[in-house]
Amino acid sequence: MPTMLEMGQGRRLSGPGGAATQKGGIMNAATLLDRLDRVREVGPGRWVAACPAHDDRTPSLSIQETADGLILVHDFAGCSAVDVMAAVGLSLSDLFPQPLIHHGKPKRYKHWHATKEALKSLSDDALLVAIAAENLAKGVILDDKDRQLVIDAAQRIREARKVAV
Ligand SMILES: [Zn+2]
Repeated sequence: MPTMLEMGQGRRLSGPGGAATQKGGIMNAATLLDRLDRVREVGPGRWVAACPAHDDRTPSLSIQETADGLILVHDFAGCSAVDVMAAVGLSLSDLFPQPLIHHGKPKRYKHWHATKEALKSLSDDALLVAIAAENLAKGVILDDKDRQLVIDAAQRIREARKVAV
């Protein structure tokens, strides 16, 4: 079983029944607690509640807000944090400050993803040309189909070089 799952950065509670939903997607513990049933405070910054993601007879959801303002959610029955949040109409990204999610990570990830695909394609072409070069060095004659494959691959490698330099 995982330990307490770190849900993300929230805001400090101003006190019991403190501020509700913050604008800008930044959430605090109260935002989540408002949407849960059978919430019971069990200590400073610690609550238990009925898990919204399964038929929870004995409240098995633990919510904790740390001194740093982090909101920790853990369902002792085993539901994932994503399922718990989805069941109350929230997503994990609601827990993070907007700039991180909407201007940071996805863009970088998308860029990284595109770069990885381009590298894969380029390495496939390079391998094809390398095999052809090895064959040519051994005196193997390429047939028309293979020759065309090499010409096409070489063209793509030249195109990639234009982008890279
Ligand atoms: Zn559950």
